[in-house]
Amino acid sequence: MNEPTQSNAVMTTPVRFYDGRTSRPYDALMSHVQGTDVLTIQTDAAIHQFALQDGRLRGAIGQTPPAIEFPNEVRIELLNMNLPSWLNDVGQRDSKLNWIKQLWLHKVWQWERSPTWIVASIIFTVLFGFVVVRYGIPAFATQTAYALPEHTLDNLGKQALAQFDESFLKPSHLSVQRQNQLRQDYDHWIKGTPSQNIIFREGGLLGANAFALPDGTIVVTDELVGLSKQDFEILAVLAHETGHLARRHALRQAITGASLGVLMIAITGDSSDLMSSIPTALIGMTYSRGFEREADDYAYQLMTARGIPLHYFSDILVRLEQQHEAKKGDLAKSGFKDYLSTHPPTAERILRFKK
Ligand SMILES: [Zn+2]
Repeated sequence: MNEPTQSNAVMTTPVRFYDGRTSRPYDALMSHVQGTDVLTIQTDAAIHQFALQDGRLRGAIGQTPPAIEFPNEVRIELLNMNLPSWLNDVGQRDSKLNWIKQLWLHKVWQWERSPTWIVASIIFTVLFGFVVVRYGIPAFATQTAYALPEHTLDNLGKQALAQFDESFLKPSHLSVQRQNQLRQDYDHWIKGTPSQNIIFREGGLLGANAFALPDGTIVVTDELVGLSKQDFEILAVLAHETGHLARRHALRQAITGASLGVLMIAITGDSSDLMSSIPTALIGMTYSRGFEREADDYAYQLMTARGIPLHYFSDILVRLEQQHEAKKGDLAKSGFKDYLSTHPPTAERILRFKK
């Protein structure tokens, strides 16, 4: 029944018919008497006739067979992917029929089926995906990171800190005087615009560490203060973290991660919310090597400009590296990607500041 039959120059093809009045499909026979410009649809209940030139052909796309549409939402769906040959013939004979000009659309489906086109479209999709992921999303993340309003940054920072406090951090044991003195040193030597807010916490599993949150908060652990032999070493680490803040690294990275999640959701059809996933993305985050280099650049320039000897940064990096080597197991267990040791202070990084 699926193949067109031919008798007395009447061409007949089974179709699915939508009459435009209800959304219900009807099983029907579509027929055409050669030489006329009428298309006849016969259902169990009625016979409908349409002028061929009013029709419009929609080519097959993916798994959807071709269809002919008429005004007033009338739609005739073919039951298989191939256009009946008689319909092609009608189109070829009478170039007045405007839907025949749509015939090429039907070809799209045929191309889709050819191995060359399948391979080509896979290659295209992969390349397109690569460009989107490699360039599109980071560019979007950068734009978004700089465009987010102040109160959103505040909220994101507060949420991330709350999550950190819940999972890793404890109140600092440093005296208020010591905390204030370090804050004053920071304000005097490092402070950038917009201004940052230094807070202190016991790091626990995070050990000697410092990290910046989107609202401009820099968290410094007691352990980092304990590990330093000179306050300038702490300031050097803070200069590096200020660099991360100035370039909005945390936000850019978190938005990138969250966007990839949303992209996956778009593909898999699950639903979620970009903004709500950012604080979580911040927690498990590792900075890219490029971001670390940028933050180092920032610290390098700032320390040079303000006359802070560069070796303070490399001095503490060396000690941080030793400490993180020793504590590696604990950190791995915590599941936390330690900001400062994301990319362990490589010899190259240390060497640069040693000079
Ligand atoms: Zn860093």
